[in-house]
Amino acid sequence: MPLNTEPLRKILELEGQKGYADSAVIGGLDRFLHNWSRQAAESITAPQLLRRFNKLHLANSSYASLAKEQRKEWIGHVLAFLDAVEHGARDTATRQSPPVTRASSRARVPRTTASQSIDSPITIIKGISASLAARFNKLGVKTIRDLLYFFPYRHLDYSQRKTISQLAEGNEETIVANVWQAQETRPGGRRSTEAIVGDETGNVRVVWFNNPYLARQLTTNTRVILSGRVSLFKGRHVFQSPEWEIFEDKDLVHTGRLVPLYSLTQGLRPRQVRKLMKEAVEQWAWQVPDFLPSGLRERCSLLELPQAISQAHYPDDATLKDRARMRLAFDELLLLQLGVLSKKRTWQESQPGNPVNTNQSVLEAFLQSLPFSLTDAQQKVIKELLADLEKSRPMSRLLQGEVGSGKTVVATAALLMAAANGYQGAFMAPTEILAEQHFSTICQLLSRTGQPEEKGNYIHSYSGLLPRPLTIAILIGDITQARKRELQQHILDGNIDIIIGTHALIQKEVEFHQLGLAVVDEQHRFGVMQRSALRQKGFNPHVLVMTATPIPRTLALTLYGDLDLSVIDELPPGRQEIKTKWLRPNQRDSAYAFIKRQVASGRQAFIICPLIEESEAIEARAATAEHERLSQEVFPELRLGLLHGRMSAAEKDEVMRSFRAGGLHILVATPVVEVGIDIPNATVMLVESADRFGLSQLHQFRGRVGRGQEQSYCMLLAENPSEVGRARLDIIENVQDGFKLAEEDLQLRGPGEFFGTRQSGMPDLRMAKLSDIALLELARREATGLFEIDPRLEKAEHSLLVKELARTWPEAPAAREWS
Ligand code: ADP
Ligand code: MG
Repeated sequence: MPLNTEPLRKILELEGQKGYADSAVIGGLDRFLHNWSRQAAESITAPQLLRRFNKLHLANSSYASLAKEQRKEWIGHVLAFLDAVEHGARDTATRQSPPVTRASSRARVPRTTASQSIDSPITIIKGISASLAARFNKLGVKTIRDLLYFFPYRHLDYSQRKTISQLAEGNEETIVANVWQAQETRPGGRRSTEAIVGDETGNVRVVWFNNPYLARQLTTNTRVILSGRVSLFKGRHVFQSPEWEIFEDKDLVHTGRLVPLYSLTQGLRPRQVRKLMKEAVEQWAWQVPDFLPSGLRERCSLLELPQAISQAHYPDDATLKDRARMRLAFDELLLLQLGVLSKKRTWQESQPGNPVNTNQSVLEAFLQSLPFSLTDAQQKVIKELLADLEKSRPMSRLLQGEVGSGKTVVATAALLMAAANGYQGAFMAPTEILAEQHFSTICQLLSRTGQPEEKGNYIHSYSGLLPRPLTIAILIGDITQARKRELQQHILDGNIDIIIGTHALIQKEVEFHQLGLAVVDEQHRFGVMQRSALRQKGFNPHVLVMTATPIPRTLALTLYGDLDLSVIDELPPGRQEIKTKWLRPNQRDSAYAFIKRQVASGRQAFIICPLIEESEAIEARAATAEHERLSQEVFPELRLGLLHGRMSAAEKDEVMRSFRAGGLHILVATPVVEVGIDIPNATVMLVESADRFGLSQLHQFRGRVGRGQEQSYCMLLAENPSEVGRARLDIIENVQDGFKLAEEDLQLRGPGEFFGTRQSGMPDLRMAKLSDIALLELARREATGLFEIDPRLEKAEHSLLVKELARTWPEAPAAREWS
């Protein structure tokens, strides 16, 4: 039943004509108001209106008790509200569900002109100057669309209003009160504002330190709303520097509601940004076209996009805030799924791949030559790989296996099959040290059937497995230009069967004769884009991606939705649990003593220096100093090596060789040794500032020991760990299973940090969380469904979606196809 506003309007107007003497109704206005508001409360359903309606309540007070001025002001508010109700009623007559944004910008006629759009720079917004825009640019906000998608990292809940008598010390509270007096004061010499404010239940003191200017704005009888922490001073309650705003007939921005907190940069003030954001949202959010097909949106019960955007900034309540996040998270996940799925399809459809037949006798000869027999899990995975390779559809497979589970030998078998079929194989590692180590491991694995013919440091050649010599080369960044060109020529001429390297392999100078299989090790350092760059080396090769980081299912679907999955879920026999201990700072000396004892019994140790984010150079310097200190003061009788990222490949190689050969007792290293290094005689891993590493990284460090027969140990030092740091140390001490650790890591760190999605060319996940399993699966289903009904997304109802896709995946090869 629509609310009848007429009687109230008439009476209030009459009351105004009679000079606000509370004489428009016999017996006073209060009873009439009481009845009217009860009726109104039932018939107002639009949340925006209801909220405004609630604001009009004369809390614990009555019209009769108001002063004339206050009566006049209050009636003004009510009349404006009645306008809004009538306006809203007309609106709802033509629209089924008016988006909240419309209602909140009730009187706002869009002031945009044809040339302005949400893709215009933010400077078209009134109040954003060029210099302010520059500060926003630093946050990645250039256009109005960026601004609308610049979501708060959290909200303060100032939505529960209290009276002054209800205030409790230590709580975050919100009150509406009258200013009795405000003046500048100088407590402790700081120019501040001090005010006394009151409501019908009492008075309370408010202090804003270092802000004397407020005193002038808070004139006596100003109605303000305050949100902030209440403390006790000389036995009385006081608000210290609360958020405040004038209480008037306007949406609240800083107080009395769920208030957004934005992560800001220098030169942007929270109040200023909130205010700008409120205006931007009101004026622009509703102009963002909803790119989701409406059928899909309804099926998934998602908010409309404009509403979701405005509720994500200024939610009416907690429920709408959640629903807004849901909608926006769904968008991210859907676009991500559409991206990866369409890429998989493009790759698989664009050209047929090159079937690699299993050469049983070569395979047998290779496996026979190994000094160990494969685990069941390794055998199973080799079968899966070879079955994929035989198809003309190029393989896209992720091989997941715990540290030390023996992925390298499995990959080597596949590379050998490619070579036996006359194709080239590429093996990419995330760092040069690892590339070098893989080069030497793979050479060793393939060398047991015949005599090696060394062709220099970078190319080795082995006979015995294939009818011709098998040639393996390493291409890394820091060899001489001449060498590099020579190698590149060999690769192009097809003189090299297996080429091992870093990113250098996907640079454009490197051309292959016919690349049949590309193996990417430690996948999380490589992104989708690098993978696709490798694919574009002509020839549409089979791709095998390997990772020691167990990837939870949600993440696998998110980041590797384009890959099939193989798992080595078994370690070679004889591996022991690595005893892990988190040491307090005062146990450092006993850690050193322990290392000395291990070395005395013939073992070796790693000492990992702290992670220093700023730069590799600083990190290298710190490691050098630590190496110096340890060599002279702690282990003067031992031989210590140093390994850091600033050393040349030759120097690194020298150190690794020497450590592997037992020439060094202790290797002091920056976190470069994180992945893959394999020294079976090393039994102690000491990690400095262990609290600063993620769980998966700590697990990787730990995986550097325990690779031989001896009991191994991992010692973790932390000077002053944060709460999260402590949680991680506690977990790593007690959990050996990498899979569990990865799950925990995700919980603690979130996906972006976990995999560095930003660098790896994935779209940002701002709203989606990895715990959104149901939502992710929903997005995956919807994405698959979309491709089923409209494989090229050509239908008219998908045109906005296609635009959004192209925007989300600008670097994607398929973006051209989409836009
Ligand atoms: P990761 O999966 O971490 O890359 P690697 O391939 O480096 O593991 O293998 C770890 C160590 O285990 C290597 O020294 C390798 O030679 C050895 N290895 C691999 N497979 C087996 C096996 N089936 N039995 C015994 N040792 C193995
Ligand atoms: Mg490995």
